Amino acid sequence: MIKEIRILADHRIQYIADLRNQVLSERFRGRPVISAEITSSQAEAAATMCPTAAIDGESGSIDLGRCTFCNACAFMFPGVFRFSADYRIAASERSGLIVKPGQTGWSGFNGLAVRPVIRRLFRRALKLRQVSAGGDNSCEMELHAAGNVNFDMGRYGIEFVASPRHADGIVITGPVSENMADALEMTYRAVPSPRLIILCGTDAISGGLFAGSPAVKRDFIEKHHIDLYVPGNPAHPLTFITGIMDMLGI
Ligand code: SF4
Repeated sequence: MIKEIRILADHRIQYIADLRNQVLSERFRGRPVISAEITSSQAEAAATMCPTAAIDGESGSIDLGRCTFCNACAFMFPGVFRFSADYRIAASERSGLIVKPGQTGWSGFNGLAVRPVIRRLFRRALKLRQVSAGGDNSCEMELHAAGNVNFDMGRYGIEFVASPRHADGIVITGPVSENMADALEMTYRAVPSPRLIILCGTDAISGGLFAGSPAVKRDFIEKHHIDLYVPGNPAHPLTFITGIMDMLGI
């Protein structure tokens, strides 16, 4: 017994008490900050260099749905682009993922865009089925971490379940490869209505580096309503959990 108490004392408190206000390492790349003084030539040069066409060549704004957080734009123009450690960057609408020059803070989440049925039914318990649709296992690992003792999303009743029959929605990772397109549709249909869809990571949101590839088939993403966009490459567990908290209104 004394041994167990010593172990518990040694471990101390492992869970993160306040998931919304953690200070992450400065090396973490979260919400970009773009100088309001960016020139048109800088925006054009950065857009030309960006590997996923995430930068608008006229305004210099960054689309987090396309950005791979590679940091190349910040290397190219250090005083113009930088990435803050702000991880709260999930959005309820695709347009909410655009970060404009001079923007401070995150305004991408619009609570009015959340379907009322989601908050009414899933606020206290949300079961999700994860579908890796051509993913590289990076977002999948982070989603797995979201349930560990540190992030502990289970405290809000948010959990992954094995069967889509037991789920309230699906979380998609990966660019949706052609081989996974039918399986994704079948999994979604197996979830009872009302059901929700969450896109996790750059690949799922836009195709990322694989956008336009003949091996990718994204009809599913285009024809269904998406309830939550969780950017990142991979997405951080805190981005995922706080995004769901915003969606559920908790
Ligand atoms: S960090 Fe994002 S916006 Fe900048 S170059 Fe890389 S992909 Fe493009």
